[in-house]
Amino acid sequence: SGGNRTRLSRTSAKAGLFTESVIRETFRLAAQHGAINLGQGYPDFPCPQEIKDAACAAILADDNQYPMTFGTPALRAAIAEKTARTYPGWTIDPDTELCVTCGATEALVAVAFALLDPGDEVVLFEPWYENYQPDAILAGAVPRTVRMRAPDWTFDEAELRAAFGPRTKAVFLCHPNNPTGKVYSAEELALVGELCQRWDAVLVVDSIYEHIHYLGPGGYQPPALVPGLEDRTITVNALSKTYAVTGWRVGWTVAPPDLTAAIRKVHDFLTIAAPAPMQAGGVAALGLPDGYYADLAARYLERRDLLCSALEDIGFDLRRPDGSYYVLCDMAPLDPEGDGVAFARRLITEVGVSCVPAVSFWRPENVAAGRSMIRFAFPKRPETLNAAVDRLKSLK
Ligand code: PLP
Repeated sequence: SGGNRTRLSRTSAKAGLFTESVIRETFRLAAQHGAINLGQGYPDFPCPQEIKDAACAAILADDNQYPMTFGTPALRAAIAEKTARTYPGWTIDPDTELCVTCGATEALVAVAFALLDPGDEVVLFEPWYENYQPDAILAGAVPRTVRMRAPDWTFDEAELRAAFGPRTKAVFLCHPNNPTGKVYSAEELALVGELCQRWDAVLVVDSIYEHIHYLGPGGYQPPALVPGLEDRTITVNALSKTYAVTGWRVGWTVAPPDLTAAIRKVHDFLTIAAPAPMQAGGVAALGLPDGYYADLAARYLERRDLLCSALEDIGFDLRRPDGSYYVLCDMAPLDPEGDGVAFARRLITEVGVSCVPAVSFWRPENVAAGRSMIRFAFPKRPETLNAAVDRLKSLK
């Protein structure tokens, strides 16, 4: 019975095609060989004590049941207050413009399902953060790609214009960018904004690295504040990176009320709510003084320069990132015949350091641009980075 019918959806097969195999294999190998993990983007240093205390206190006070589905009033108020403090002029109504989710990951899925119908098109910048393409595909949409090119990760205006059309429903922008480290310029954002307005598209900004950039105060401007974009921008954010709590799974969306209502509906069915005690921890996190963010950026700058100086010295081609905690490197000067996948494998098994081969950040037909690229993550203690650098020096 059933003939040739498969029990699995074509959508699930398509969505899984792009990212999993190479990265999974890399993590498996890294664990097997005890490699120092500069592959995955999570901190190996503790989060601030006061936010741990707040989450523990919430558990002990029996704050352990379903919270309001779209976020506790306290966390939504804290997000609105902290956003207004960081970006004067940005007022968020916590009752109608916020949805708290299980990490940025769930926020992105909820946004995709809230916005996209089968056949709609989504503009993505390539290389990309791995989730955008599968998220769009799960919702039945068709990704359209705009290429950013090494070394400075600029893109072609004509190519961006050509990616938009009557079916364009949304643009996903990772800003500051994983994996390239790019922080989009005011001119680039104005152009994206102009095209979103012209084609009536929504701009989805993944701003999870908003506080991890190396451009100094004011160096990062949220696209939601770009004139003309206020009513058509969804900002995705999370506690994960800013407060070193990737395992807590608390994120959120900021969007105009009509979009927020749709996101909340999808979110209800995806996960009901983010964990109540972790939301209580989030209130403490968002209440940290402004000095926390200056300190965070300063420490990340030191880590960036420690790793990038060593990688440059060894002979990798790279551009130091302006934002995020990744550096995308070309290994071709060290191994002109090789490719990033084989090089990453060798790095794990022979050198004892893991990175991510970058091929899965490009679509298969453009993969030549990323064939010799690998990505290192540096959200690690100086001891970890120094130990990794000592091992990497054997490549010289
Ligand atoms: N967005 C980007 C650009 C990321 O790099 C990551 C994690 O690496 C995420 C989202 C996932 O965030 P979360 O842990 O909050 O789900």
